[in-house]
Amino acid sequence: MKEVILCKYGELILKGANRSDFEMKMLKGLRQRARRIGNYKIFYSQSTVYIEPLDEQSLDAIDEMTYQAKHVFGFVGVSRAFACEKNMDTIAKVVRENLVPRLKGYKTFKVESKRSDKKFPMTSPDISAEIGGVILSAIPGIKVDVKSPEIVVRIEIRDTDAYVHAGQEKGAGGIPYGSSGRGLLLLSGGIDSPVAGFMMAKRGVQLEAIHFESFPYTSERAKEKVLELAKHLTRYTMRLRVHVFSLTKIQELLRDNCEEEYFTLMLRRYMMAISLKLAHDYDCEAIITGESLGQVASQTMKAINVTNSMTDIPIFRPLIGMDKEEIIRVARQIGTFETSTLPYEDCCTVFTPRHPRTRPELEKVIEQQNRLPFDELVEEAYKTRETIVVKQFGDNKTEE
Ligand code: ATP
Ligand code: MG
Repeated sequence: MKEVILCKYGELILKGANRSDFEMKMLKGLRQRARRIGNYKIFYSQSTVYIEPLDEQSLDAIDEMTYQAKHVFGFVGVSRAFACEKNMDTIAKVVRENLVPRLKGYKTFKVESKRSDKKFPMTSPDISAEIGGVILSAIPGIKVDVKSPEIVVRIEIRDTDAYVHAGQEKGAGGIPYGSSGRGLLLLSGGIDSPVAGFMMAKRGVQLEAIHFESFPYTSERAKEKVLELAKHLTRYTMRLRVHVFSLTKIQELLRDNCEEEYFTLMLRRYMMAISLKLAHDYDCEAIITGESLGQVASQTMKAINVTNSMTDIPIFRPLIGMDKEEIIRVARQIGTFETSTLPYEDCCTVFTPRHPRTRPELEKVIEQQNRLPFDELVEEAYKTRETIVVKQFGDNKTEE
């Protein structure tokens, strides 16, 4: 008997021609992670990827490997299974010895069987009935509930072995990381933007991140917080490059030359111009922000149009229709919430107008913009770039 991890595909099964490309990306995602943890054989067959520990130490680390597999986009379910010989006596023995201890404490269960080896002498319902009987006689008081069981036991008769498992966990879902091209995430220290990054990464977008600071108005701690958020995202992305730019000079000039109610909008236009330049330099085909309609003054339709009008690539705003509570739920799920709520200032909160414009007119914005040499300031700010590579495994590195 061997212990293995089974990872089940989701929607990509439907994607015909893309399928093998998707499979390669998912296998790569698993292999990159596995290398850091131990020695595993990873292969796929029949819409399932198998992860098999090859030595004692890797078997001991199977929990960690399972955790990693749950962060690879494309898999809908991940379970720890026991592989054994394909005969009912052996299967029943494995169920008694290995699954029954895990089922104690549950009140209801059901057995689901699948037989992809049609030569196996029993039908799926017969296998389920027999194994159900084994469990009923081993655990006093437990009951079968086919409609809504607390736990599902699965028996799969596959080409080479039988697999026995219980309590499949949810995988990360989505489509494989990197299969939709690259996108530039505007990453602030808030709750929203890491969630936006996660959501697009889940749709296969390989992320590049940009962060704006305003030292000394924003602190070194604020930047570290952003790097920590990036680190949380690397559970899904493995690594994430964060490009940090300084907006200090631009913000001071805006403060001294523009009408206060336009500060935030002007600042966002500068952010967008710098982001676009970086997106082009790094082959990003879209920009991603954590904006949500109506959440703050700069996120009304009119205000969004003021920044939209500058770009020649799409801006993805995956949170646009979400409420804060819904966003927070995802932030908790991906582990960024705690870090996001640490109290450090963001460049957007420096020199915030008391009465920001919620219905700005583009003409008026352009008039404000023309008070300063926009292109020149963008070029100058672009030179302040500092690029930090954040990795899931290992320390951050500054890139030249
Ligand atoms: P968040 O919770 O993500 O900070 P927010 O509700 O505070 O969002 P804003 O400050 O208006 O909203 O920012 C809207 C979006 O603009 C953010 O989600 C993020 O994508 C981007 N953004 C804001 N500030 C920065 C920054 N300092 N660096 C990079 N991107 C930023
Ligand atoms: Mg913010």
